[in-house]
Amino acid sequence: DTKHRALHHAASHPDLEEVLFTEDEIKQRVHALAGEIKQVYGPGEFTLVSLINGAVMFTADLMREIDNPVRLDCIRVKSYGTGTRSEGTPQVVASLTLDVANRDVLIIDDILDTGKTLALVCDLACKLKPASLRTCVLLDKKARREVRFEADFVGFEIPNKFVVGYGLDFAERYRNLPCIGVLKKELQTAPAP
Ligand code: 5GP
Ligand code: MG
Ligand code: MG
Repeated sequence: DTKHRALHHAASHPDLEEVLFTEDEIKQRVHALAGEIKQVYGPGEFTLVSLINGAVMFTADLMREIDNPVRLDCIRVKSYGTGTRSEGTPQVVASLTLDVANRDVLIIDDILDTGKTLALVCDLACKLKPASLRTCVLLDKKARREVRFEADFVGFEIPNKFVVGYGLDFAERYRNLPCIGVLKKELQTAPAP
């Protein structure tokens, strides 16, 4: 109930040093973002491509705010291992199964950091000759960019801090937190898997 939820927000999570966005703030921004997306696509069909696992929650919430006919596919990219820093080159572990040739494609990711992941996935998608290709990220950590990349739709710009929750993990944990927060420094060392 509402009282329980309010308490939950106040307490946040013991492993977080700071909450950047509450569940409600995310919900409002996702709703507005869906409006921005509709403005660009109009009423027609498009294909959502979600980068899993990180973008699962964002994708699920965003697509429910979009009343266009949409198709959904996923790409699994491995990039971070268990640490908090990008380790070398991201790799596509499982690629598209839908045919995206001549389709309007919107790639969705949780966070844009160095830009390597989205640059890689956009290259891959581009080769499949979509009618159009755009990207949407919930978070943008501009200060960390290593390859030039701008997303077409951005939920929030954030400072250079390692964040978890709302799909984002540390060593596969914390994805289920409804808010997005900064993981405590002392917990940012790789635990047993
Ligand atoms: P990039 O290739 O842009 O450096 O990294 C993108 C991917 O790295 C994201 O899809 C996400 O999985 C991961 N990532 C980048 N920054 C963070 C962060 O602050 N927290 C978490 N949990 N993952 C991050
Ligand atoms: Mg990711
Ligand atoms: Mg991760």
